[in-house]
Amino acid sequence: MIATGHLINGELREDAKRVHDIFNPATGEIIGQTGLASRETVEEAIAAAAAAFPEWRDTTPLKRARIMFRFRELLELNIDRIAALVGEEHGKIMHDARGEVLRGIENVEYACYAPELLKGEHSRNVGSAIDSWSEFQPLGVVAGITPFNFPAMVPLWMYPLAIVCGNCFVLKPSERDPSAPLFIAELLHEAGLPKGVMNVVNGDREAVDVLLQDPRVQAVSFVGSTPVAEHVYRTATGSGKRCQALGGAKNHAIVMPDADLESAVSALAGAAFGSSGERCMALAVAVAVGDAVGDRLVARMKERMETLKVGSYEDDQNDFGPVITRQHMEKVNGYISSAEEQGAVIEVDGRNPAIAGCENGFFVGGTLIDRVTPEMVCYKEEIFGPVLLVMRVDSMQRAMELIDAHEYGNGSCIFTRDGEAARYFSDHIKTGMVGINVPLPVPVASYSFGGWKRSLFGDLAAYGPDGVRFYTRRKTITQRWPSAGVREGAQFSFPS
Ligand code: NAD
Repeated sequence: MIATGHLINGELREDAKRVHDIFNPATGEIIGQTGLASRETVEEAIAAAAAAFPEWRDTTPLKRARIMFRFRELLELNIDRIAALVGEEHGKIMHDARGEVLRGIENVEYACYAPELLKGEHSRNVGSAIDSWSEFQPLGVVAGITPFNFPAMVPLWMYPLAIVCGNCFVLKPSERDPSAPLFIAELLHEAGLPKGVMNVVNGDREAVDVLLQDPRVQAVSFVGSTPVAEHVYRTATGSGKRCQALGGAKNHAIVMPDADLESAVSALAGAAFGSSGERCMALAVAVAVGDAVGDRLVARMKERMETLKVGSYEDDQNDFGPVITRQHMEKVNGYISSAEEQGAVIEVDGRNPAIAGCENGFFVGGTLIDRVTPEMVCYKEEIFGPVLLVMRVDSMQRAMELIDAHEYGNGSCIFTRDGEAARYFSDHIKTGMVGINVPLPVPVASYSFGGWKRSLFGDLAAYGPDGVRFYTRRKTITQRWPSAGVREGAQFSFPS
């Protein structure tokens, strides 16, 4: 049995008065327990981070970056071990879990640019013999709260950058799959990080509440569902903290009449069903422009779905695995039933699939639902399962109106051969990330990740240049060294 504790001041700690069961979702078995941190344990982690801050803020960016270089090497060396931890507790297939770790490593590589990222701005002679510059100083103790669906990658969006910017960090990963983030934090210490700079507390709402209210925590990065993101944003900003809270999604793909249908179908299958649809960038809705496109898309997708392989994370031949919990499986099945009741057409039904050897696992097979309309519950809400909805509209304009009217605005994409249409789409669509013939337009680490509307609360997106701004505060200094030539008397008008 795995018993997952906490990493505070460089030491593994137990605090398991309350626990959360960890499942292998492919078998349905309980394989471990997460110790849920009490208020005292979270406060201890904050205190360790606060104590480490004065020395860490004065460490040179180059020294911090060198630790990240070593961390990067350790992540590469341990990629299979991390992927297996992710697979066992989350359920995603090893090839997908390795991809997640690689995308996380990208963020560590970006953090290795620390000396460049923290250079600041400088102007000589803004006034006579006066120089001025802005520098970007760390905030202090920063907290990160992360979801179950990317237990390795999403924490890596946050703390490598926060730490190279000179902050100390407290991470609260998802209690459902805590082993990978804890192991990765141990690797960071193996890479030479001083004690207290990075701490991990496993826990639930109780731990989050402490992080949101403790005055020593200066900023909070959150990724998870929209209701919790909104609560975290309001509470954190209400107690005077900087906050970025990334929420849920409903990502649409427009399929234009001139699209290369074969590649659109392959791209849609991967992006809708990969990781069982438990990605905030999963394509959940295909919007066919014209009935003829809709008919061809559904026919080809049905054929493609016959070859989908679903099963345990250990078999790299599988396309995707189970969903995270039995409750979530029932919720996804409920959305499929509601679509049926509300008049949509279930073209491929993934409810209760027979998976040999995994009879008690939390599986939903690939599901295709046609003739979905905007008032249906399955359309309005985020399903977060391997379910692709198909809607039919008569123009690109109508497809864009549909996307813009949705409460979420994380990503969207268009499949077309028409450059003018693609340019119009990317210029006007109200989502934060756009793909043109690219189904999962997750920005690389040197850009930033964030949606619009109720997919992101806060002004700055995650990682990349926005991450550097989020984890630092600007200080602007104006300097003059008196000399005989420029010495002046008192001035009572505004300096100009
Ligand atoms: P979740 O909101 O249930 O949990 C996220 C984190 O918040 C966890 O650490 C959890 O312990 C904590 N939490 C849960 N309920 C809380 C509460 N009431 N008060 C305080 N903290 C609470 O999300 P999840 O189910 O782990 O993850 C899936 C969701 O995350 C989906 O909605 C998905 O779209 C979203 N997500 C968004 C992005 C993005 O970048 N926008 C990325 C990944 C996942």
